[in-house]
Amino acid sequence: MRCHTATILFTDGSNRRIRLADFRKDCKLMKIVLSHLTKKFPGRGRGNKKKGDVTAVNDFTFEIPDGTLVGLLGPSGCGKSTTLNLICGLQKPTGGQIFFDEEDVTPLTPQKRGVGMVFQNYALYPHLNVEQNIRFPLENLKGTDKLSKEEMRARVEEAAGLVQIGDLLDRKPAELSGGQQQRVAIARALVKLPRVLLLDEPLSNLDARLRLQTREEIRRIQKKTAITTIFVTHDQDEAMSISDLIVVMKDGLVQQIGKPQEVYDNPANLFVAKFLGTPPINLFEGKVENGSLLIGEETVLTLKNVPDQPVYVGIRPEGFILSENGSFTCRLSRPEVMGRDVSIVSTHPASQNPVIRSIVDAESCEHLSGDTVRFALKPQKVFLFAKDTETRIPFETAK
Ligand code: ADP
Ligand code: MG
Repeated sequence: MRCHTATILFTDGSNRRIRLADFRKDCKLMKIVLSHLTKKFPGRGRGNKKKGDVTAVNDFTFEIPDGTLVGLLGPSGCGKSTTLNLICGLQKPTGGQIFFDEEDVTPLTPQKRGVGMVFQNYALYPHLNVEQNIRFPLENLKGTDKLSKEEMRARVEEAAGLVQIGDLLDRKPAELSGGQQQRVAIARALVKLPRVLLLDEPLSNLDARLRLQTREEIRRIQKKTAITTIFVTHDQDEAMSISDLIVVMKDGLVQQIGKPQEVYDNPANLFVAKFLGTPPINLFEGKVENGSLLIGEETVLTLKNVPDQPVYVGIRPEGFILSENGSFTCRLSRPEVMGRDVSIVSTHPASQNPVIRSIVDAESCEHLSGDTVRFALKPQKVFLFAKDTETRIPFETAK
């Protein structure tokens, strides 16, 4: 495999070799530009039985700023892995281009792209120990990139230190926990000083606690090295917590790109609103009539400038205020204590989910009793979506 240390990474064009720790200082950070990137897989079968092509990635255009960590997020089968495989060169696009900075890397082989890739299943060599596993990508470097034994040793030790497995170098993969194996895989991806780091669901095989810990670790390593990183996950919590930017995908199409909080606060459509947030957004059938937003018979908000139409109403769990005079009446099931907060579980005939979950602070629900519960709504936590297109309808409230 080729290493990109000398020829590509340096802004000053020199041939110095650098250390991981100096990455931020010495290296030109790469932006990644995807331009109309498309991948179609041919349908299977023949004649009448032939299924249509699958468009796994559909006209994906985006510029990933250098030095950032981008979370690529979406349900299983939406095209996340295909996108990563196109960027690292394991698959060829049907259309479109990929640039690392100004360089069009679309025709380059994976080896020439200088990408570090980490897969869900670690893919370590079982017969090699940790040190040999991490060193593997350095063994076959040619020409000016060739490293001496000492240089390799230093690079391996540094990568291992960065992911905090420096004391495990003699072990075989079978003698490591899942989390440790994943760290080895990350060190192996870093040891070549990649221009770009791609992680495909790297935490899926870890248990819940380790997943949390390892995701913080990935964030720390990314901050320290500042390598432009794309992190694929189907877990919105994971993506929201560590990413500078998230890209939400569905059926090969990008739905929305933005800072996690911005996307959460301003979902572009119903899919994005439903995909982000735990507990998930509460959804109701409703309608706008003469400036009133109606759920069932009740006017829950008064709106300006929204034409009459049927709508989906999305209300975030934190958008409910317990209020005796509240305009939105639900049937109380039970309060559930979740640490500091209380989740009030209720039902409503117009609700699209079996139950409504609203999160309120513990004091405000001391007087909760009877069969019904009344809420006022925080307008900025309420979203309207067109019934047909499911796109968001912006609104202002009238006093
Ligand atoms: P994700 O990683 O988001 O789960 P993938 O990128 O693996 O999704 O797959 C996206 C779509 O492309 C899916 O419908 C999948 O079945 C299809 N697909 C992926 N790889 C192939 C392939 N080699 N041949 C045919 N279809 C594929
Ligand atoms: Mg995948």
